[in-house]
Amino acid sequence: MTSSLATLVLDRRSGRVDCPARRHSSKQTVAVRVLDDGTVILHDHGGCETRDILAADGLDWRDLFPSRDPVERRRRSASKHAAEKREQQLDRAVSQVCKMLRNVDRLIPEASTALKYAHDTGTDESQAWDTLEFCYVTRRVLEEEFARLEPRFAEVHS
Ligand SMILES: [Zn+2]
Repeated sequence: MTSSLATLVLDRRSGRVDCPARRHSSKQTVAVRVLDDGTVILHDHGGCETRDILAADGLDWRDLFPSRDPVERRRRSASKHAAEKREQQLDRAVSQVCKMLRNVDRLIPEASTALKYAHDTGTDESQAWDTLEFCYVTRRVLEEEFARLEPRFAEVHS
């Protein structure tokens, strides 16, 4: 398994890694060098800015300098990663529910029109009723899901 930039930096190991900013196709472009006092210097031969590379791997400038507490340094990075991941998952879930709600909302007028047409022409209404019922049941489930996600969503984004 190849090391990530974060692993090299936090473990204070010199080496070469793929650029986490991924703005170019060339591999292993980031050179990491650890100085005697624990300071890390790095350079991307792919041309990315150091701050962009650090940000792409959940690091910041402070991670490049010696810390009195490497455990704390590692924990800070790990918890930041976990929080970002949770936030992304929540964003995805909320946007998916919103998208499904929009789809159902588009379907409801169509089902209503179909029902009216069946009624007016004296043809079988059962399929239109089934569609309409499906829409309302789905909508209620989606609304409940949104209400469940929404407080957490507000919390994460506050
Ligand atoms: Zn790069």
